[in-house]
Amino acid sequence: MFKRILNLIELLIWRYRTYGVQSAYIAMKTRILNLYVRLVNKLFLPKLTCPCCGWRGRKFYYLDCGWFIVPEVECPSCHAHERHRLLSLLFERIPPKFLQTNYKEIRILYFAPEPHFLKLLQNYSNIKTTFTDYSPSAIFNVSPPKFVADIHALPIADNSFDAIICIHVLEHVRDDRIALQELNRVLKPNGELLLMVPFMMDQSETIEYGEPRPDIFDHVRGYSPLDFKKRLLSFEFDEIKGDSFLIAEEVERYKIPDSQIVYLCRKKLQ
Ligand SMILES: [Zn+2]
Repeated sequence: MFKRILNLIELLIWRYRTYGVQSAYIAMKTRILNLYVRLVNKLFLPKLTCPCCGWRGRKFYYLDCGWFIVPEVECPSCHAHERHRLLSLLFERIPPKFLQTNYKEIRILYFAPEPHFLKLLQNYSNIKTTFTDYSPSAIFNVSPPKFVADIHALPIADNSFDAIICIHVLEHVRDDRIALQELNRVLKPNGELLLMVPFMMDQSETIEYGEPRPDIFDHVRGYSPLDFKKRLLSFEFDEIKGDSFLIAEEVERYKIPDSQIVYLCRKKLQ
């Protein structure tokens, strides 16, 4: 208990010194709100389920996003977020083609791997995953094959991969249109790109910040769900939301908000 309080004080001092009083206030407020969530989960009957770990409870944790707080995001048990819950359910109910092909080796290129998603891929013995990121630390904990690369100029031949997984990456890159061209180039003609970006639901158009914003996880742009698809002109794609394949009661039970959208893209063939 004493150590946890000490850690919290250290965090608050760091946030205050690095980002100012508003950011320190948000860090403090999130922790207080999550104490309330823990109490609610102890006192009330469960209404929610985490499909990633089976946890059942009344409320998911609030998420500290630096300058603002998002409710009902994190599983108190496995720490999965909304996107992990959506993908876990999607893979179970209507898996993409690359997960249904079990008679041959499937080569996947995976940007910025996340533990929750890696767990989902572990069940497929014919999948050979290559990991990549521009930062060595992002692929430090995963097994080879892996390489550090710039998504704007991938050191990979055309038509190399059966699938590409690119989740919450494009909001960090200098030019996302060039990055998407590269993903299109290295994807096999019948391959699939599994793409997700965070959406700013209150924006009618995507905003370029010009430089990484430390108050929003160093994002360089804030995507609007209304114009994001214009960036996918070189692909054919399915736009998959929670209510595309879940009934309303499940969307509520798994807490999948409208902001979570999977784009399953295929190369447009000439
Ligand atoms: Zn969980």
